[in-house]
Amino acid sequence: MKYRLSGGRIWDGSEATTSSEAIELFVERGEIAALGSPPTGESGENWSLPPGSVVIPGLIDAHVHLDLDPHLMAPAEQFEASRSDRDLRMIARAGAMVRAGITTARDLGAGEWRELALRDAIARGELPGPRLVCAGQPLTIAEGHCHFWGGVAEGAEEQAEVVRRQLEHGVDWIKVMATGGYFTKGSGVERAQFSADELRQAVGLAREAGLRVAAHCHGKAGIRNAAQAGVRTIEHCSFASGKGYGADYDPAVVKDVAESGAWVSPTINANWLRRMKKDGEVTDFYRNMQGVLGGLREAGIPLLASTDAGIPGVFHHGLPAGLRAFEKYGDLTPVEVLRTATSDSARGLGLEAVCGRIAPGLSADLVVLAGDPLEDLAHLEDPLLVIAAGRVVHRAEALGPVPAGHE
Ligand SMILES: [Zn+2]
Repeated sequence: MKYRLSGGRIWDGSEATTSSEAIELFVERGEIAALGSPPTGESGENWSLPPGSVVIPGLIDAHVHLDLDPHLMAPAEQFEASRSDRDLRMIARAGAMVRAGITTARDLGAGEWRELALRDAIARGELPGPRLVCAGQPLTIAEGHCHFWGGVAEGAEEQAEVVRRQLEHGVDWIKVMATGGYFTKGSGVERAQFSADELRQAVGLAREAGLRVAAHCHGKAGIRNAAQAGVRTIEHCSFASGKGYGADYDPAVVKDVAESGAWVSPTINANWLRRMKKDGEVTDFYRNMQGVLGGLREAGIPLLASTDAGIPGVFHHGLPAGLRAFEKYGDLTPVEVLRTATSDSARGLGLEAVCGRIAPGLSADLVVLAGDPLEDLAHLEDPLLVIAAGRVVHRAEALGPVPAGHE
């Protein structure tokens, strides 16, 4: 498989601007072989992109649940369909994600490790989908957040047992539910489910296996515990209380997070665009979350773009629209938002040697847009072409046939 793309300007995933001129891009065996001038030897068939088009790295969603059906409201409904039907729907969701330009995603939990089988099938090139890294069953407590996934661990011994079970199934991350969550009624978003010491043990067990920990945290006690325990990523980080998101914001806890070196994955989805105003007035939700994100940024805490796709009403292919919400709530420029979904995200997830930028040697995960997303993020929502690990997974009619050298 060898071909080149010509006629598109390039935003490489980290630079402050898009290239002023079109740059040729050479793809070989699923990787970006060269930029600008051809690699040695024959450079394959040319594919001319339309004038004005811009090529960017494939997007990364740092928090999804492939095994959750976002059409269903209650967790119990998730288990009603047969396992084989649920598998087929999961495969369809992975296809929709990658066609939308999401070429990598981190799956942060389910109960039966089926998303790991999907991960492997995608990696073998058998199914279209994003490159996945997966956490399997999250550690939680009895009746705690997502206890129905089977990762209940009370005490050090049970915790070691649950972690061992995930490692046997070949997870890439360990996920811990450091607080209750909205998805599990009665689990209490303010409630810290584990002490800092208990979380420290989980981080130690993960580290022994060469893995990192992602901690689900809403309330501030859990955020502080997770930061002190040395987790790699803090999910949500909403400072939620019974009074809602951001209601318990605490700069002292933000300072703990900054000192810990953790990344924050704030799970902002496209529905947040509709929650900014009500009856013409700015909502408390919008104001509070702008405050939280502003505080995180001021403290220098690096951010990861994420959606929590799979929870009710949050669709797996929704990251491109979700990034427009991230722009508003985070008061970010388009290039800052795009870095959180490409080069920064790859770094945060430890995938910087694989993806996240357009550079020789990295996976050919490429999205071609009709216009410059650094001027308007809305271009992300209608890609002309999506290439994942060198393969064309989506192509607008206007682009003409896939070049012969593609497969
Ligand atoms: Zn989640």
